[in-house]
Amino acid sequence: MTSRATLAGRIAALIEAQGPMSVAQFMSIALLDPQDGYYTTRDPFGPRKAAKGGDFTTAPEISQMFGEMLGLWLAQAWMDQGCPKNPRLVELGPGRGTLMADILRAAKVAPGFLSQVDVVLVEASPVLRRMQQEKLAASGVPIRWQAQFGSGLDERPLLLVANEFFDALPLRQYVKTARGWCERMVTARDGMLGFALAPVPLPPAALPRDLAAGLEGAPEGGVYESSPAALALAEDIARIVAGRGGAALLVDYGYQTRGGFGETLQAVGAHQFADILADPGGNDLSAHIDFAALAAAGRQGGATVLGPVTQGSFLTALGLGERAASLSTANPDAAQSLQTAVERLAGPSQMGSLFKALAFLPPAFDSAPGFNAPGFAGAAA
Ligand code: SAH
Repeated sequence: MTSRATLAGRIAALIEAQGPMSVAQFMSIALLDPQDGYYTTRDPFGPRKAAKGGDFTTAPEISQMFGEMLGLWLAQAWMDQGCPKNPRLVELGPGRGTLMADILRAAKVAPGFLSQVDVVLVEASPVLRRMQQEKLAASGVPIRWQAQFGSGLDERPLLLVANEFFDALPLRQYVKTARGWCERMVTARDGMLGFALAPVPLPPAALPRDLAAGLEGAPEGGVYESSPAALALAEDIARIVAGRGGAALLVDYGYQTRGGFGETLQAVGAHQFADILADPGGNDLSAHIDFAALAAAGRQGGATVLGPVTQGSFLTALGLGERAASLSTANPDAAQSLQTAVERLAGPSQMGSLFKALAFLPPAFDSAPGFNAPGFAGAAA
């Protein structure tokens, strides 16, 4: 049996024993506690009105066309680099396995790709891992799972994809005060969780690099969010792509340049915003991706970084409209729902602008489909 009250209680007890914890540690426990974590205990995806209502819906769950476009992009990147032998296809946070299933189906167009590739799925949740196993059982390619990106993925050309993965990585929050930047901590009193600022400001050397480099002009109360886990992972991935060949495609929601000092960490349950501390393990927690910081981490790892471009411009350039038209011709009854899916994935008022794509390539390459059309980068909000 799992109990959410138990997880809140266990976090409070931990804080009472050890002192306040960072927002990052709270997030990591709330999402991935082995017994009661949000992802460890459920399948969160699906529309609100489904029989077993989901908490949120992701692009691959909206339409097979999303994964097909990403599959074609990855296969093209492999062919553009001369079809390097034994590529490894890695997905971070594969959810229900839908994206990988669609990628593998679309990648059949690249001769020799599927017969050489092996797949590694990085998934911390046993529940979702089981769903992925079922979904991909008939895929015909060797697949193995690991809980972390970790080591062992650096000997072969790496083709990596991550959709809505980086937004779930633990993030720290710093708040500007008259004393300097203080980290926001999670505290506990009488078993109740709350937020409080660390009393002592962090010395510049302990702040994230870009913050320490002087983000002057932050108002008192301004919040700066930074995910050391996300930046370290992006740099690792870029280093492997730069050294071994391959490509990484990161798609997520977030901003191209930091617009101010607002916080973006949010809790979502049943398609509604919720209190971040109210129900650890019961709601999804995620935050906007700082794409400029992720791009800088990619360059630090030695990769060519393309984008971010908006998901709308990326999918449109890859042929989303044409794919919808050909599927509609084959199945006229589905034409309306395909049009709706195109609008949801690429429409600026839906996922088209908020979601963005970022790519890492080896340093000898400087372009890829969807990233090099004039004006695309400028179109990213
Ligand atoms: N890519 C999928 C799912 C996105 S939700 C989709 O687009 O539908 C985030 C996924 O990442 C889930 O599968 C979750 O279990 C996994 N996950 C979250 N944090 C993780 C971590 N730190 N390590 C490994 N997997 C993680």
